This record gives sequence, structure tokens and C-alpha cells, in this order.
Amino acid sequence: MPAAQVLIDGPSELVFDYAIPEGLTVVPGHRVRVPLRNRPASGTVLRVHEPEEMQFDLRPLESLIDPDPLVTAGLLKLADWMAGYYGTPLEHIMRSLLPEAVRQENHSEKTIKQAIASDSIDPEALAKLQKRAPRQHSILSILQAVGAEGMPVTQLGEGAAGPVKALAEKGLLTIKEIAIQRDPDGDEVFLPDPEKTLNPEQSAAYDIIRESLETEGPRKPLLLHGITGSGKTEVYLQATRAALAAGKSVIVLLPEISLTPQTVQRFKSRFSEEPELVAVLHSTLTQGERFDEWHRIRKGKARVVIGARSAIFAPLPDLGLILVDEEHETTYKQENPPKYHGRDLAVVRAHLDGATVVLGSATPSVESYYNAITPLKKPNPQKLKNQNSEEQNPIHPIHPGPKDKELCETSESPRLRVEKSEEPSTKYQLVTMNQRADGQALPLVRIVDMRNEPKKGGPPILSQRLRHAMDQKLAAGDQIILFLNRRGFARSLTCPTCGHTCECAHCSIPVTYHRAEERLICHLCGYQSIVPRTCPKCQDPAIRLQGYGTEKVEEILRKVFPKARLARLDGDTVRKKHVLKRTLGEFKARKIDILLGTQMIAKGLDFPNVTLVGVLNADLSLNAPDFRAGERTFSLLTQVAGRAGRGEMEGEVFIQTFVPHSPSIQFARHHDFQGFVEQELEFREKYHFPPFYSIALLSTRSRHEKRAEFTLQTIHRRLSEDPPAGMEIGLPNPNPITRAHDLHRFQLLLRHRNPRTLTKHIHTVLSKLPIPEDVILVTDIDAHDFS
Ligand code: ADP
Ligand code: ZN
Repeated sequence: MPAAQVLIDGPSELVFDYAIPEGLTVVPGHRVRVPLRNRPASGTVLRVHEPEEMQFDLRPLESLIDPDPLVTAGLLKLADWMAGYYGTPLEHIMRSLLPEAVRQENHSEKTIKQAIASDSIDPEALAKLQKRAPRQHSILSILQAVGAEGMPVTQLGEGAAGPVKALAEKGLLTIKEIAIQRDPDGDEVFLPDPEKTLNPEQSAAYDIIRESLETEGPRKPLLLHGITGSGKTEVYLQATRAALAAGKSVIVLLPEISLTPQTVQRFKSRFSEEPELVAVLHSTLTQGERFDEWHRIRKGKARVVIGARSAIFAPLPDLGLILVDEEHETTYKQENPPKYHGRDLAVVRAHLDGATVVLGSATPSVESYYNAITPLKKPNPQKLKNQNSEEQNPIHPIHPGPKDKELCETSESPRLRVEKSEEPSTKYQLVTMNQRADGQALPLVRIVDMRNEPKKGGPPILSQRLRHAMDQKLAAGDQIILFLNRRGFARSLTCPTCGHTCECAHCSIPVTYHRAEERLICHLCGYQSIVPRTCPKCQDPAIRLQGYGTEKVEEILRKVFPKARLARLDGDTVRKKHVLKRTLGEFKARKIDILLGTQMIAKGLDFPNVTLVGVLNADLSLNAPDFRAGERTFSLLTQVAGRAGRGEMEGEVFIQTFVPHSPSIQFARHHDFQGFVEQELEFREKYHFPPFYSIALLSTRSRHEKRAEFTLQTIHRRLSEDPPAGMEIGLPNPNPITRAHDLHRFQLLLRHRNPRTLTKHIHTVLSKLPIPEDVILVTDIDAHDFS
């Protein structure tokens, strides 16, 4: 008799076999009700099998929660892969796979109560009502007027529920429950957006994607490296159309759905003839909306799913294409366990589902680019030996040389050099687009050395050159984008006498002054405190604000450019619903001259009248204690610069910095992605970082500093006892942010060339090591956050 192996919902990973009752068809992915000891429980069927021995005590499962399996076969395989790769219990992964709203059975479809007047109403009863219960009478008259269709109770006016109930009890009306679809974008209209004729580069990219879509069996992930404005989105849109035409469905991953309204809008507009087709998985969806969207997707009604990283778990049948826009973005890495990487899962899921995956970016991640340019290991090791070993060693794919220097110093018109990847020998296939879709040149980038600016009263935030350029552009009626990656009014409150800086009471980082709230706010945990009038340490009233945030820059700009129409977009201003969309709309309509913002204005925005972009402080991201700081700075600067000169007019970019010679800044200045990657790969190889090594970050957190430290030391000792060959085990150290949310933090970095060896060793050691109850241990495979 076949049995169903069921993963029980709940905090512990319980897996039990249950007998399948006769007449019930159960397949993997089905949600089921089962008895567990003396109580009912729910779970997900992992597999259906014939138990080797007859198990007499096998209890039968009770029933199916949903007639269709909720988790597709491909997703089950993905969950399995994740469990192995990230060393995470399957149950935790199932939690990510099935949204809470879907797992909770009670979140059924949304229904409304429709009131319908009874057919034959005794006129006498009506007359009686008019006297005794005028409200009931008027409701009934309305319902009689609308006839057999009736009306939603909610539309009968405030406080109608009571009278309606009374009428129902008298038999004068009936109430029907009607299922309705919640539509998160219900109030929006999308104008159709006709297909553009692709230019030759776009056509070539599109053809490669279509070819891949038509391929049977395994195919290579495609890395679409297209400069900003090269028309990647148009290629995505037409590739989506092609996949749909072939009867396939599509997942579109965006770094942050609420921050990319333009891209979402372009998809909605393009497929506006059939709005049902597109499902957008916002993080702001209510449980009910999430439930509806999920089931719409599962039933194959929505065939294009747009969302942030978790949309990779969309239960689409017939998945044919996965598009990952801005694939380099770190927001694809999930912060909470399981700390998966959405882009990496896209590659794995595409492989498991036999789909095509396109990773797109103007600044691909070093990891992805490496996969697209590095020859794979040849199967015959003997052959390798006979050839020039350095040339063939896959670990040494990049040949550092004089090129770097040339690239640093060249100031020719910015053109990327195309390197055709040799198709059969790399892991990914590289597809490049080097031209802007509108034929414009990339903007001219100027570096402003802030060390040369006159110093009166602290470092100025607007250099004279930038200010001058702004004056000119404003006079010409052009639009300007200013970028500063720090919100708030000022950076910190510091005492000039004793040097004390106000810190968060729960985290070891300076708090930021927010003028609008008149509060000091911690950007890590959100804790708010009042602004002290004197230094809390030495009582000196001279304590003052240092550094700049967007809020303060806004104030300065209003003084310097009193006539300019100015808008600010950052985490504080977009908290109110629709502010982002509205502001971007107004900017597009040229009702705003200067748009000031944080990284949310860095990507994906397309405004043809922006001819000047100013980066107010390029050094903020460079100073992060993280081996990817250079990569992040380079890509941020490139993305921001890419907002300029998208229309008929040429664009100009000013980057203000105190470290003008930093390679990330210089390569960005020359739009030189390859130069950047080459030197970055050299650095990564030398210091044993990805893509040459896989890394895992183990962190302990506790209210008691010593407990966190001691636990990590114990883990370190055990890890070091009998490590596999090639394992590199760092020393336990306090995190750069030593305390956050009242928890002291220690961390330890492990590396190995093989990710599986790394995870396996960690798992083997940790499974035998009890972690004290007052210590939290976090394992982060392929860590992106070292703060
Ligand atoms: P990317 O996503 O690569 O930054 P976009 O897709 O935003 O680039 O394209 C930049 C601009 O060029 C957009 O305004 C877009 O409408 C336009 N565009 C893209 N492809 C074409 C094309 N084939 N013909 C004309 N305009 C195009
Ligand atoms: Zn805090």
C-alpha cells in the first residue's frame, strides 16, 4: 500500500508516513490534513512511496486541503536543492515556498455579502415597516428597485448590517455570499504600449533568448550585459511575449518591487490587452491579496509574475523564462534564514524546470560575469597538464597586465570592449549590448575632488563646479537628479568638546537626526530618542550636527536655488503610499526641476530630460567594511550616471569625492566595466574571495557579550578539529557593528573552493554541537552582509 511522506507544519521539522486512504489520489506537493498524536495537523506531501516493510501502525491521512498540489514538482526539487546547499531544514524552506496566507487554511477566497429583496413582499408588511423601522424600509425599497441582482451590503450605507439582518430574519430579503477577486492595482489604468522595433543589438540579444526558449533540455543561463539605456527592458518585454506565445509562463524578478514602479508599469502597459495575465507580488499585499494572487498563479490564470526575490517561488505551471533584472543587486539576498540568493535560485530553478534564465545588468556581479567569461574545466586532466598550465587553470582566468593601466588613464569616448565568450566552454553565455537604444553617447563623467573645496564651517555638500552646472541647466530648463545615499537631516550629533557621538541605546551605531520628527533615529533598529540640548557626556551645549543627509541637503538646495521646483525621494518621504509613483510622474511631466534622493532613484528610471546628475558623496559606500564595497560603489555610480542624457540632449555627471583616485570611481568615470572587473577579480583571487572561493559567515548573537563570544570560540575550535583539505577558517571577531537590537554580535568567516564541502563541514560540526538557549547562531552561505 503506498504511503505519503508528509512534512508537518510547525517549528520542528517533523516528517511522517501516512497511509493513503483508498480512492484518494495523492501526489507530492499536495497539502493534507493528518492526525498527529491526539490532535489534527496540516502538512505538505514530500513524496509518495511504497514503504519497504509493512507498517501496521501507519495511520491514514485525513483529507486533502486543496484538490490540486500546491507545490509544483519543480519547486519541490528546488526546495531539496536549497536544503542541501544552504544546510537549512526543509521545513524552513517550505515556509518561504508557501506564503503564510496560503498555508493558513482559513484564508479562503474573499467573498462579499449580497442582499437581494425577496420576490413577493406583502404590501402590508411594507407599510408596517415604514412606520416602525424606517431604515429597514428604505433599505428594502432600494433593493426592490435594483431587482434580482441585489446589492453588496457594504454599499447600503453605514450601519446597514443590523437592519439587513433584521430584514433577513423576517424573510424579506436573502443574503448570498459571492466570491470576488481582490485587485491590488484595481484603481489604475494602463495605456497600451506598442512594441518597439528592436535595434540590431537588441535583435541579436532577443534571438539568442528565443533560440534558448526553443531548446529542448538543458541550456546555459544567459548574462545580458547591456549598458544603462541600452534597452534591456524592451528585450525583456519581447522575450516575455515570445515565451507566452510558446505557451510558457514567465517570472520577472526585480530588486525591490516598490522602488521600481516604472518597470512594473512597462510590463502592465505592454500586456494591457489582457490585464489578468500579469500578477505583481508587492510586499505590501494584504494576506488576502497574496492568497488570491498565489492561487491565480497556481491555476495558470496569471502567466507573468513580477516580484522581488521571493517571486522565484511562484508556483507557475509551464515555466519557460525567468528574467532577473539588475542581477547584481544585493537585495536579491534574503536577510532572514534561509538566507537564499534570489538570483542564484533563478539559475537553479530554470535548470530544474527546463526554463531559460536571463540575468540582466549594466554592471553584472563579479560572480556572474566570471561565470560568463571563464572557460570551464576541461574533462581530461591529462590534456590540461600538457598545455600552458596558467592559461588553462580555470581558477586563473583573468590575465592581469598592462591593460589595467591603460584603462585607468584613457579618456577616450567611453566604449566598452566586447569580449565574445566562447559558447561551448563557459558556464553562462554572455550577451552584450554596448549602445544606448536611442543612439546617444554615455554621459560625460567628471570627478570633483572635494579636498580642494574651500572649507568654511565643515565640508560643503555642493561643490562650486556642481553648483555652477546646476545654475546653467536650470536656466536652460533641463532637469537634474542629485544623489546622496543617506537619508535624514544630518549624520550624527557630535560634541566638539569631548568628541562624544550620540549612539543608539540598542545598537553600536550613531543615530541620525531627523528634522521633520525632531528626533534622533537609529537607521538599524528604528529606535527614536529625543535630541539632547547639551552633550549627554560633558554637558557642553556646543554639541552639533555633523555630516549631511538628504533632508538637510533639501534645506540647503531650497536656499541656494529658491526658484527651482524640488522634490526629495528617500525612505522617509516614500513611506506614505503613492508618494514615489506620484513624484516620479511629476518629474516625468517636468513639473519638478531637481529630484534629490537616495539609492531608490539610482536604478531603472528613464527620464529623457535629465541632462545633469550629481553624486553628492561617492565615498559613503566605499567605506563599508566589506570586500564588495568597491563593486557596490562602481555599480552604484554607473547606475546613477546612467540616469543622465537619455533623450536628445547630452548628459553630464558630477561625482563628488574625497578619494578621487579610488579605482571604483575611476573605472566608473570611464564607463569601463571590464577594466573594473579585471582588477576586481585579481583582488578577489589574491584574497580568496568569491568567485574563487565560497564563503560562509557564522554569527553568534546574544544579550550577553561573553556568551556570544564564548559560543563562537567553541564553534571555531570544533570546526578546526578535523577540517577537510583546503578549508580556511577565520578567527572569531566582533562584527563591525558590535551590537544591534541589544544583541552583541561576533562573527567568523569560512572559505573553501567547493561550496558543498563548506556547507557539509559546517553542518557536520554544528549538528553535534548544542547551542546555548540565550545565543542565536546564524549561518550565512554566500554572505553579502558583513556589518
Ligand atoms: P535599460 O533597461 O537597458 O536601461 P530601457 O529599456 O529603459 O534601457 O531603454 C532606454 C530607453 O530607450 C527607453 O526610453 C526605451 O523606451 C527606449 N527604447 C528601448 N528600445 C528601443 C527601440 N528599439 N527603439 C526606440 N526606443 C527604444
Ligand atoms: Zn538601534
